[in-house]
Amino acid sequence: MSDATSASDQPDALTMALAQFEVAADRLDLSPAMRAILRKPQRELAVNFPVRDDDGKTRIFQGYRVQHNITRGPAKGGVRYDAAVTLDDVRALAMWMAWKCAVVDIPFGGAMGAVAVDPKAHSKATIQRLTRRYATEISILIGPNSDIPGPDVGTGAQEMAWIMDTYSMHKGYSAPAVATGKPVSIGGSERRNEAAAQSVTSTLRLAADEMGLPLVGARVAIQGFGKVGALTAEFLAEQGALVVAVSDRQGGVYDERGLDVAAAVRYKAAMGTLVGLPGAQALSVAQTLEAPCDILIPAATQAQITAANASRVQARLIVEGANGPTTPGADAIFAERGVRVVPDILANAGGVTVSYFEWVQDIQSFFWTADEINGLLQKVIEKAYGAVTRLAHDKQCNLRTAASMLGVSRVADATQIRGIYP
Ligand code: NAD
Repeated sequence: MSDATSASDQPDALTMALAQFEVAADRLDLSPAMRAILRKPQRELAVNFPVRDDDGKTRIFQGYRVQHNITRGPAKGGVRYDAAVTLDDVRALAMWMAWKCAVVDIPFGGAMGAVAVDPKAHSKATIQRLTRRYATEISILIGPNSDIPGPDVGTGAQEMAWIMDTYSMHKGYSAPAVATGKPVSIGGSERRNEAAAQSVTSTLRLAADEMGLPLVGARVAIQGFGKVGALTAEFLAEQGALVVAVSDRQGGVYDERGLDVAAAVRYKAAMGTLVGLPGAQALSVAQTLEAPCDILIPAATQAQITAANASRVQARLIVEGANGPTTPGADAIFAERGVRVVPDILANAGGVTVSYFEWVQDIQSFFWTADEINGLLQKVIEKAYGAVTRLAHDKQCNLRTAASMLGVSRVADATQIRGIYP
């Protein structure tokens, strides 16, 4: 097994996002001017800032905030902490967010932020200082009406609380709607934590039903065991699926009889990794994607399934928890092999949908119950799934192209009707 990708299948996230955009733009017959507007980020900010580490030394960190398009509403997107993140990754993730918000038809534009840092290599106190300084550096962009950060790889409720607190300290009053994915105690929403995994599970069920693939007893492999991957594993195990393989950045574990997911969650919490899980066979990260299974859920990072390994993927159904896990070269192989792929901008859109509900609740200062959120989320996801699958059927294309067409066309329509200023 190899992690190498073929030269013809460039796995850079921005190249992937642009290639997917061009396919949708061709099918939509977008004018050259509209393509030129939608292809580029509207705004991008790169920041370099010092943070004092616990040992008293000052280190310089690089961060970004990119707003791809804000025609349909305030910019919305996660904040990623990852040592290897690049400005092009952030541009790609911001573009995907713009289409995703439009696919689920919530009134947000698309954005993304990141800091090139390995959060595990620093203390909580250093990460707090870094987060507060990053929030200050990007404060010229963020705000409840302008740009609303949320959690992504390497960040979570605590970082969102620090961003909200930093912004609020500068303003002199509490501004909970400036960030989503916060703890419930400071204006977070019920079910935000579970939301992306919930939409992965719901769209997986809908797709499996259409394929005549019973969920009970279906073998599932999941790459990434963080906020999205681990909760998806729990939901699917509760619904009778056999989670046979899971992995994190360090490696994977496999059991053909189905792993004890609750035990894996406890082990990961105690040890910081899945590697060494008692009673399970060890796998590499790459082997997890190729494990014997019916359903594969990439829930780690982008460009993991490429032309180099797609033919070895054994699943019949792939549901993208991660953003951009499948390259266009891999998509072509899956189309040929009849493997169904439920794309990121549909499958994991539950996360941004409940972030939207959180923002609405913060603005109205009135909060909904977990049942209310679940019901609203389910309606949004089922409607979006129906719209994407109908479009795929009508246009005879795969679900990724249909979802991209739906998202891009809604942003293009809004851009057209608003007109070009001045
Ligand atoms: P997380 O930081 O909670 O977990 C990430 C997991 O992936 C960890 O288990 C980590 O070890 C693993 N991982 C990271 N890099 C890897 C690599 N190169 N190879 C193998 N494994 C790797 O992050 P998360 O919030 O669960 O996000 C996972 C994916 O889901 C990302 O693509 C993110 O953009 C996407 N997503 C997240 C949300 C959200 O609300 N958190 C919503 C929608 C989509």
